[in-house]
Amino acid sequence: MPSLISHFIGGNMVAGRSGRTAPVYNPATGEQTGLVPLASTEEVRAAVGAAKSALPGWVATTPLRRARILNKFLRILEERTDELAAVITAEHGKVLSDAKGEIQRGMEVVEFATSAPQLLKGEVTENVGTRVDSHSLRQPLGIVAGITPFNFPAMVPMWMFPVALACGNCFILKPSERDPSASLLVAEWLKEAGLPDGVFSVVHGDKEAVDAILTDPDIAAVSFVGSTPIARYIYETAARTGKRCQALGGAKNHMIIMPDADLDQAVDALMGAAYGSAGERCMAISVAVPIGGKTADALMAKLEPKVRALNIGPGTDPEAEMGPLVTSQHLAKVRGYVDAGVAEGATLVVDGRDFKRQGYENGYFIGGTLFDNVTTDMTIYKEEIFGPVLAVARAPDYATAAKWINEHEFGNGTAIFTRDGDAAREFAHQIQVGMIGINVPIPVPMAFHSFGGWKASLFGDHHMHGPEGVRFYTKLKTITSRWPTGIRAGADFVMPTMR
Ligand code: NAD
Repeated sequence: MPSLISHFIGGNMVAGRSGRTAPVYNPATGEQTGLVPLASTEEVRAAVGAAKSALPGWVATTPLRRARILNKFLRILEERTDELAAVITAEHGKVLSDAKGEIQRGMEVVEFATSAPQLLKGEVTENVGTRVDSHSLRQPLGIVAGITPFNFPAMVPMWMFPVALACGNCFILKPSERDPSASLLVAEWLKEAGLPDGVFSVVHGDKEAVDAILTDPDIAAVSFVGSTPIARYIYETAARTGKRCQALGGAKNHMIIMPDADLDQAVDALMGAAYGSAGERCMAISVAVPIGGKTADALMAKLEPKVRALNIGPGTDPEAEMGPLVTSQHLAKVRGYVDAGVAEGATLVVDGRDFKRQGYENGYFIGGTLFDNVTTDMTIYKEEIFGPVLAVARAPDYATAAKWINEHEFGNGTAIFTRDGDAAREFAHQIQVGMIGINVPIPVPMAFHSFGGWKASLFGDHHMHGPEGVRFYTKLKTITSRWPTGIRAGADFVMPTMR
């Protein structure tokens, strides 16, 4: 029997009342394990109502006390990582070690947010004018919301809410309806750590819930991570309804392999970055660009046997390097891209379409897939596949490779493998992408830096977490003060200048 999943509103598990639900599956077996409620506008309003009641108390809570709650939450996460990882694997499909990895990366943001008192320190200037002082401080926005994708059901929400809460905001999370359960554990553990009811709520749902968030007059800001068409929609709608918005979208990350690169290192890096988490990562490398025919041939010779040897299985198998895709619809979509690659003339070197794992025949598995001779006009080059499909696009020289990256619609992440400092510096300096790796295939910034791409990979001005996260979740106030000293200068009708 599929279990009935709840919302978490005002500190309590609350059953859905809209009458609309969606199935949740175990991707390794194809079995339906849950039924997630899809919230109505009224249910979103209930979460906003709970946040409105909690907000004055949370704003008045000192940053140090907020930090202590986050610290306790961090300890709970540390102790119960296995429990959370199991829930992620059961609904997302990724291997357990990878699920633990995403929790670890999320915890680093919580750790960052525990320095709330330091992060919220303002600036003071004494004597901006004679006996006049100024200070600037950052205040919370109020009620903010996060809308998150399926591929990191713990980490991506943790890019957002720890910083939002540390800054004194109430947070409403609308997680992906495909793997909704991790967010409920997080909500319970935040409560256990001492977070007052209503400060953090989880509302499940689809477009109706998202639209309710986007049009709610009491929600001040929206953070979004997901595919580019929805990111664009979120950003445009939020702009129309006057909300601050950061909307992170899709990706097509290239890795350049220079002729002088350590090829074994580059191949290992490509394997993990292209096939880890079955390619369902916004920072996955999906295009390898070897420079020159000799590099390309040598790369393919090393890559092909490794792709064939990938160990694919259920996420609970400790030997598995890669699990299934998230849903049968997504599997069909990824298979369709492989078909398109063949039809458009790319060389299919390793075909994962017929992969089956004994005992898991109904799971959403696809084998590691490798294309050679991919060109920039092909669909599999232009579009994000979000599966374990690596396209090798051979470039004659570095300048061509750099041009391809700069002209691509997406600009999330990219990497170069080389031993040439000159080439690496040139790459870092001129490439039009938000996150750059030099001999680092997945250059996800640490929590105390900020995460975000360029071009169609991010709409808005702020990247996530780190200093940009603090800026996003606060507004700046500047106070200028003069205390009476007995001097009267009389009324001044010109633009005030400090003397
Ligand atoms: P998605 O865009 O389908 O869904 C993301 C969120 O939007 C979900 O909460 C979903 O319920 C909601 N949503 C879906 N359709 C909607 C609609 N029509 N109107 C309003 N809301 C809607 O993305 P996904 O498939 O869950 O996640 C994969 C995508 O996320 C990939 O494109 C990936 O690159 C991207 N992603 C980007 C980053 C990044 O940092 N740039 C990180 C992780 C994932």
